[in-house]
Amino acid sequence: MNSLRRHEIKFVKGIGPKRAELLDKELGIKSVYDLLHHFPHSYLDRSSIYTVSRLSGEMPQIQLRGRFISFNTIGEGAKMRLVGLFTDGTGTMEVVWFKRIKIFKEMYLPGVDYILFGKPEQFNSRWSMVHPEIDTLRSTGAMQGLRGVYPLTEKLRNAGISSRTIHGYVQAALQGIRYINDPLPRDIIERYQLMPLDRAITTIHNPSTPEELNRARYRLKFDELFYLQLNIQRYSSRRDNRLIGFRFPRIGRFFNQFYNECLPFELTGAQKRVIKEIRADMGSGRQMNRLLQGDVGSGKTLVALLCMLIALDNGSQACLMAPTEILANQHFETISQLAAGIGVNVKLLTGSTRKKERDVIHRELEDGTLHILIGTHAVIEDNVVFKNLGFVVIDEQHRFGVMQRSRLWKKNTIPPHVLVMTATPIPRTLAMTVYGDLEVSVIDELPPGRKPVTTLLKFDTARLDVYKAIGRQLKLGRQVYIVYPLIQENEKLDLKCLEEGYRSIVDTFPSYKVAYVHGRMKPTEKDYQMELFASHKADILVATTVIEVGVNVPNATVMVIENAERFGLSQLHQLRGRVGRGADRSYCVLMSKPKMSRETRQRLELMTQTNDGFIIAEADLKMRGPGDLEGTMQSGIAFNLSIANLATDGPIVQLARTAAGDLLDADPGLSSPAHAAISNELTLLFNKTIDLSRIS
Ligand code: ADP
Ligand code: MG
Repeated sequence: MNSLRRHEIKFVKGIGPKRAELLDKELGIKSVYDLLHHFPHSYLDRSSIYTVSRLSGEMPQIQLRGRFISFNTIGEGAKMRLVGLFTDGTGTMEVVWFKRIKIFKEMYLPGVDYILFGKPEQFNSRWSMVHPEIDTLRSTGAMQGLRGVYPLTEKLRNAGISSRTIHGYVQAALQGIRYINDPLPRDIIERYQLMPLDRAITTIHNPSTPEELNRARYRLKFDELFYLQLNIQRYSSRRDNRLIGFRFPRIGRFFNQFYNECLPFELTGAQKRVIKEIRADMGSGRQMNRLLQGDVGSGKTLVALLCMLIALDNGSQACLMAPTEILANQHFETISQLAAGIGVNVKLLTGSTRKKERDVIHRELEDGTLHILIGTHAVIEDNVVFKNLGFVVIDEQHRFGVMQRSRLWKKNTIPPHVLVMTATPIPRTLAMTVYGDLEVSVIDELPPGRKPVTTLLKFDTARLDVYKAIGRQLKLGRQVYIVYPLIQENEKLDLKCLEEGYRSIVDTFPSYKVAYVHGRMKPTEKDYQMELFASHKADILVATTVIEVGVNVPNATVMVIENAERFGLSQLHQLRGRVGRGADRSYCVLMSKPKMSRETRQRLELMTQTNDGFIIAEADLKMRGPGDLEGTMQSGIAFNLSIANLATDGPIVQLARTAAGDLLDADPGLSSPAHAAISNELTLLFNKTIDLSRIS
C-alpha cells in the first residue's frame, strides 16, 4: 500500500500532468492509492436498458440504446449548443451538448448503434439528456455486470472527465500494479471472513455479481473502521498508562452541607447512578474523561454542581464552560442560587465582564479564593490562571472545537477531570466511533411529574387556528416562544423574516408584551430582552435559535417553530425541550409550508410521534449521515469515511472495534513484525489527525 501512495497519478496511462492536477484539486486524488480508493457511490446494471416510451416523471441516470437521426447546431456565441436527435424505436430523445461542440459533432455518426447513459429530463413533453456518456455497441465487453458510478464534480465533468473516464483510469492503474499487499494478518482475515484486499479492490471497481460486490464492500468497510478504532484505542490505552489524574476521594463539607440542606428535590435514580460513576472516576487517580448524555430537562446541571462540590471538598477549583453568554448567565444564576447557603464563591466570566470585575476574578482564581468559575470561551483565555483547577464541566460540547477544549487541559500541571455534558443523544455506533472507549454516562430518566410535550405539525394555512390556540394559553397566564430559523448564508433575509414575524405577533396580540432576541444584538440588549421573558414581564418571546440551548422558563408552555422544515431533527428536539418544564401541559407547533420533500415530511412527522431523543438522533443519523449530525462532527473531530456508513454499518463497527481491541491487547505497541504493515498503515492514515482521545 505504501508504494501505491508514492505512485503519482500523472504517470497512470491516460491521465498526464494537467488532468492529474485537476483530479487532485477537485477530488483530492494525488496517488494511485487515492485513485483506487475513490470508490463508486453506486452501480448500474449494465444489462438493463430503458426505452424512451417507458420514461416518466423524475428519472435517475439510465441507459438507452439506439441511433442518432440528425445533429443541429443551435444558437450563437455563449448560447451555442449541439442537439442530436436520438431514437430507440419507441420514441425520441434530444441529446444536448454545450461544450466541445465540434469534437462531439465529429465523434458520433447517424445510423450507428450507441448506448447512451445519463439523466433524462423533460421540457414541454420532450425528453432530453445533457452531455450523456456514449458507448458504441462494439465496446459491449465493458457492458456486462455492474458498472460503478463514481463521485464527480461539475468542473471535472466540464473538462470531459466522466464516471466512465475515471473507471478507465482505475483499470489502467490496476494493470500497472502486480499485487496489493494485505496489511492484515491471516488470523484476522480468517476470523472475520474477509475477502483478500487485492481482490476486494479489484472487485469494487469491477464487480461481476452483487454478492461479490457485497463481500468486497464488507472488506473495505471493515478496514476503514478497523483502522479508525485502532487509532482511537491505541491512544486511549496509552493515555491510561500515562495520564495521572487528581485523586479526589473525600466527600466533605461542601457536598454534605449542600446535599443535606440545600438540595431542592430528591435526585432521580439516574442522577444518583451517574454521580456514583463520576465519583468512582474521581477517586481512581486517573484523569476522568466522561461524556454525560441526558435529554433536555433531565437535570444535568445539578449533577455537574454536585461533582464540582466534590472537587472543592478535595481542595481544588472547578470551572463550567457554556457555549453562549445567555447559557453561561443562566448557569451562573442557577448555581449561585442553589449554592448560596454553603459559602461557595462562584463568579461569572464572559466577554462582557467589566475590567474591574475581571481583575477581581483573576486575582481570586490565582489565590484560590474563587471556588467555581462559570463562563463562556472567556475562561480558556491564556490570562485566566487558576491556583489549582481540578474539575472542568463543558456544557453542550458540540459548540466547542477540539482545539478550544484542549486549552483547558493546560490550565494545571495535572490535567483536570473533564465532564462533557450533552443533550444531543449520540447513537451508539457513532459514540463508539467518535469517542472510542471514552466513558459514557447516561441520564435516562426525567424528573418526576414532567409531562411529555404534544407536538403538532401545522401548515401556514392554519396560522389563524394556531394564533387562537396561543391566545388561549396566554389567557391562562402561560408564556410562548416563537422561533425563526437563522441560517448564516442569508442572514439579512432571515432577519427580515424575524422582524416581520415580530410585527405581526405584536399586532395579533396587542394586549400582551412581546420580547425579541436575535444573535446580532448586543449582549446587554439580548440579556435585557431575555430577562423580560424569564421574569414574566413579557408573555411572548420572538427569537432565533439563540434560545436553543439551556434557557429555562417553566411557565412557558408553547413553542412555535416557524419554517420548521429548515431545521435539523436534533435542533427541533432541542428547541422543543424549552417547554414542558413546568407542571402544565405543553405544546410544540411545527409551522411549515404544505409543500415539502418526502424526507422533510418524514422528519417533521417523526417529531410529532416521539419525544425520545435517542430515537430522534438515530433517525437523524440515518437521514443526514454523520457529517451533518449535530453534536458530533461539528465538534471538530473530522474524519471522512469513504465507504463505511455509521448509520447502517453498526454491526461492522462492533466487529472492527473488537478486532482492534484484541490486537492492541496482544500487541499494545503494534511492534511485532507481523503487525508492522498495520502500524505503518495507521501512521499513514492518521499522521495529520489530531490526537482526539486526549481532548474529548
Ligand atoms: P438539562 O439536563 O437540560 O440541563 P436542567 O439541569 O436544566 O436540565 O434541569 C431541568 C429542570 O429540572 C431544572 O428546572 C431543574 O431544577 C429540574 N430538576 C433537576 N433535577 C431534578 C429532580 N431530581 N427533581 C425535580 N426537578 C429536577
Ligand atoms: Mg442544561
